[in-house]
Amino acid sequence: MYSVAIDGPSGAGKSTIARAAAKALGFIYVDTGALYRAIGYYIVKQGINTKDEQAVSQQLINIDISLKYDNKGKQQVILNNIDVSEYIRTPEISMAASNVSAIPKVREFLLDLQRNIAKNNNVIMDGRDIATVILPNADVKIFLTASAEKRAHRRYLELLEKGENVTEQEVLEDVKKRDYQDSHREIAPLMPSGTSIIVDTSELTLDESINTIIKIVKEHLK
Ligand code: C5P
Repeated sequence: MYSVAIDGPSGAGKSTIARAAAKALGFIYVDTGALYRAIGYYIVKQGINTKDEQAVSQQLINIDISLKYDNKGKQQVILNNIDVSEYIRTPEISMAASNVSAIPKVREFLLDLQRNIAKNNNVIMDGRDIATVILPNADVKIFLTASAEKRAHRRYLELLEKGENVTEQEVLEDVKKRDYQDSHREIAPLMPSGTSIIVDTSELTLDESINTIIKIVKEHLK
């Protein structure tokens, strides 16, 4: 099995780029952020503070998460038998995901799920700690990044399209806050592994970014 790890901050285009590259290569695309989002969503629904380490850890026993793929290869996140994919993309759940992802028991809870998918499939797995923690032996490791301003702008356009009521400034603040939180947490902080190839998409179009990734993967898999 081949595995490609793509890590990087939110809004670098990881999911769009990784999904398109996976399709071109015939690999399964695994969006691991959706797993943290599903847990964040569950905790918010329970009315529990997503930063309350003990309370969140205690809830894990009530949570069953799995990933499914429809016939077009689109990932669905199943939380306690319900497909929650449509509910986990709001700014509120983004922050909840970032909060719960800093809790060691949450990361431990999701570890085997992620490793098992990579054991059984050729994958492009996108996340924050795929190369550093989840799949340290991945065949290809990429750290995909872009400036905070570019990333906020892209996410803002996405949210506008979905009809979310936000300003670009709010999105930028959110991006910076999540960047800080994700890269300063004690456990599995966001950073490139020593052997990751760094790709900065600030000045690249989407197609150029996708082609860059496909080229890197093909070169490594030869
Ligand atoms: O990638 P996405 O923005 O959907 O991830 C949501 C949050 O989940 C991130 O801000 C990050 O805190 C967390 N996350 C993580 N490790 C991953 C994927 C996501 O900590 N592998």
